[in-house]
Amino acid sequence: MTFRFLTFAGAQLLAVLAGWSLGDALGALVALLLGTWLWFLLDLWRGLRVRRWLRKGQLADAPAMGGLWGEVADRARRMLRQLVKKAEDSEARLQEFLLAIQASPNGVVLLDPEGHIEWCNQTAAQHFGFDPDRDLMQSIGNLLREPVFAAYYASRDYSHDIVMNGRGSTLSRPVRLSVHLHGYGEGRRLLLSRDITALDQADAMRRDFVANVSHEIRTPLTVLSGFIETLQTLNLEDHERQHYLNLMSQQASRMQTVVSDLLTLSRLEGSPAPGLTEWVGVQGLLMHCEQESQALSGVIGSHNGRRHQIHFDIEAARGVDLAGSHNELQSALSNLVSNAVRYTPGGGSIQVSWHTLPDGRAEFDVRDSGPGIAPEHIPRLTERFYRVDRSRSRETGGTGLGLAIVKHVVQRHGAQLNIESTLGVGSRFSIVFPASRLRQAAPSLMGPAPSAGAQRAKEAA
Ligand code: ADP
Repeated sequence: MTFRFLTFAGAQLLAVLAGWSLGDALGALVALLLGTWLWFLLDLWRGLRVRRWLRKGQLADAPAMGGLWGEVADRARRMLRQLVKKAEDSEARLQEFLLAIQASPNGVVLLDPEGHIEWCNQTAAQHFGFDPDRDLMQSIGNLLREPVFAAYYASRDYSHDIVMNGRGSTLSRPVRLSVHLHGYGEGRRLLLSRDITALDQADAMRRDFVANVSHEIRTPLTVLSGFIETLQTLNLEDHERQHYLNLMSQQASRMQTVVSDLLTLSRLEGSPAPGLTEWVGVQGLLMHCEQESQALSGVIGSHNGRRHQIHFDIEAARGVDLAGSHNELQSALSNLVSNAVRYTPGGGSIQVSWHTLPDGRAEFDVRDSGPGIAPEHIPRLTERFYRVDRSRSRETGGTGLGLAIVKHVVQRHGAQLNIESTLGVGSRFSIVFPASRLRQAAPSLMGPAPSAGAQRAKEAA
């Protein structure tokens, strides 16, 4: 300020001196006036430059000048720079905040006091079918017309959430959303949505499961208590009593099988997958399957007089070890073979084979000439208690849990279950084991190969 005053006073003094030296006192006065005007115009021009720059607000175009206006411009530039920095920081923080909400697995919609959409994340857009750009500032009431939401929105009681259908929900593929509104700020609302389809399905599955288990246990229990009542109230001959006791024993063992299969399933679900430390001889597993299938076919054949033609081609399993749990693997392989025997009428053929695939994996394959399975049932066969032919399953002692157990065992061993079937022709169930779980035992550990004579005798037989 002092500098400004001094320059102004200096400029006037110079003008007076110049005017005096050129003329008299009048000349000095005229020069003083002219000097003052010149100074004023120069000052005005500098001030206007600063104002023009401030109006545009472009930091880079700040005028370079000294004096008071230079200082004003400099301070304004510094303040502007600070403001720009602050605005950039806030913008960056806002973007990070929005990115975090975008990454949320839940839908988030910000509503203004009139219920217009101010912002929504991609998840909410997917849940409700919004277009995050086009639907901005649209009224939520116009976009979400589900009656359950409309009633909730209008009630203004947001102490609880509601469950409604999501975008693209159909009867066969339902999409269920939990939607909750929260008030904030001055009349604003936050709408949160969560996809609970899987939870809903798990809940429905749990209910079905409990209903199925109760049904499976109740049926033999009802039969058992009926027989007990008969034995208690009727005076029966010995052979009749024996007949009822046999039937009761059948029902009791049926219940036992269901309970034991359920326990197996829960063990499979609740324990860690078998590692690569325990090795099981595949040949032993397959020979056990062969014995079981012959015995089972004998039992079925004793009823209808016709046994199955069962053929095991398991030479390739000689010396092959499989990493996993012996009990689990035996139960999975036996289940597939026993299903083939149980569902194929007497006289039908069953082919079981083990072979190595070119990529090092190995396949256990069971083919039967049974009734076959219609395509619509195939994807559901591994569901618990799912049966195509309920009465045949029960007749042959099935629980409807066999293939569910197989699926779990297969998954736990990193293997793959394949099912192919043609109605009226037969079925093929196969398990493909990964190469990482297979090894060929050293020749010294393998049992002796059948001698040529023994082989010929076998072929002749
Ligand atoms: P179940 O104890 O009833 O045999 P599973 O889970 O083992 O239960 O099999 C489920 C259903 O799949 C069976 O009820 C049967 O209808 C069908 N199924 C399984 N294996 C065969 C097969 N080899 N041939 C025809 N149907 C089969």
